[in-house]
Amino acid sequence: MPKTKKNKKTILTKSNKFDLLKSVKGMPDILPKDGAWWKSIIQTGQSVSELHDFHFIETPILEPATLFELAVGASTDIIEKEMYVFKTKGGDRVALRPEGTAPVVRSYIEHHLGYFASPLKVYYYGPMFRYGRPQAGRERQFHQFGFEILSDNDPVYDGEIILVALEFLKSLKFKNLSLKINTIGCKICRSNYREKLRKYYQDIKSKLCCDCERRLEKNPFRLLDCKNENCMPLRNNAPIILDYLCQNCNNHFKTVLELIEDNNISYEPDPYLVRGLDYYNRTVFEIYSLDFKWALAGGGRYDYLSEMLGGRCIPGVGVAIGIERLIETMKLQQMTPHLKLKPRLLFAAVGDQAKKASLRLMNELRSNGIVVIEALGKKSLRAQMKIADKFKVPLVLIFGQKEFFEKTIIVRDMKTGAQESIILSKLVEEVKKRIK
Ligand code: AMP
Repeated sequence: MPKTKKNKKTILTKSNKFDLLKSVKGMPDILPKDGAWWKSIIQTGQSVSELHDFHFIETPILEPATLFELAVGASTDIIEKEMYVFKTKGGDRVALRPEGTAPVVRSYIEHHLGYFASPLKVYYYGPMFRYGRPQAGRERQFHQFGFEILSDNDPVYDGEIILVALEFLKSLKFKNLSLKINTIGCKICRSNYREKLRKYYQDIKSKLCCDCERRLEKNPFRLLDCKNENCMPLRNNAPIILDYLCQNCNNHFKTVLELIEDNNISYEPDPYLVRGLDYYNRTVFEIYSLDFKWALAGGGRYDYLSEMLGGRCIPGVGVAIGIERLIETMKLQQMTPHLKLKPRLLFAAVGDQAKKASLRLMNELRSNGIVVIEALGKKSLRAQMKIADKFKVPLVLIFGQKEFFEKTIIVRDMKTGAQESIILSKLVEEVKKRIK
């Protein structure tokens, strides 16, 4: 349509202009005021990963849509309702990743990562996208920190994945955690159980919600975690998987439970925990904050995932921790971010020559590990000192014209107000003496 004056006007209305300046619904900005939370969580995650010998991996935010359709399962909420799928200009059908495990397995197959390490232990963090209804603790763009161990089905790795997730949370000083755990068996015992479950719900089909009725044939497991208030009580009489486990799955689960008991981890067996993604088998678990009743982390074993993607059998186990939920819970519990702060000071300069020399002096301090903040754009010393108060720095260096010519600098202790002049050539040494 040719551009007319009228069209142009509609595009530029005031309200449209303001909409352009709003982030997309359910995709909030992460603002500088929350920087310390994000930094502390990522730093903690990285140091826990290092201690447990997990290597960093990062996969793209966009993947072929079929990767998730094959892995997560066509009848899951994620694929049915929540995935952002679109065609690129070149005609490829791609999706914003709704989760991080399928991309890691894709990458393992593509790059033969088994040659790098066996088992391969990796961690990642980054944004995930699910088009759900935004509400407290549920965003459309959210971030996960994940750990995966690939190519070994030994229960010791199920134990290690649970342990590393709990260590992460403990390092952040979380208390009151609850671990819910279950097994959903293997191909053999699960198909047996699935049939029993289907039959149980078939007999009470008239009482089910529309979603459950629809899922009954394709994915009866999902009926166990339906949140509809009419459906929830129905599961109380439903058969449980533990009665249908084969010997191998039984032994596997028993060993996982022994391992976590050995590590003094308390847990709550939950025979109805099935998790919403198709790729899981055997161990599934979730970690809750008891105070707020929402899951902080979820994970499990996915021994068939690689085959579901067309690869060879590569067993795996993993966990994903929701970063926004961690921050929200820590804020609600009035915790503070755990950051190892480097010593910091404010560098104030007045006068053109002093200002010009400041960059070199600040750089000298910074290369010696001292965090230097400044407000050199502000002309007066008073305005610069206000910044020192705002950010509560313990020490201020004041560099004026007089100091510039005398090759000295004033050090002011902000707690006592005491000031003294030091020689510039001993700047770093003198500052280090005064700062912790
Ligand atoms: P899942 O990948 O569904 O197993 O989720 C793992 C963890 O990611 C959950 O325990 C939450 O902490 C977090 N999470 C999942 N979905 C969302 C969401 N929509 N918004 C915020 N956090 C989420």
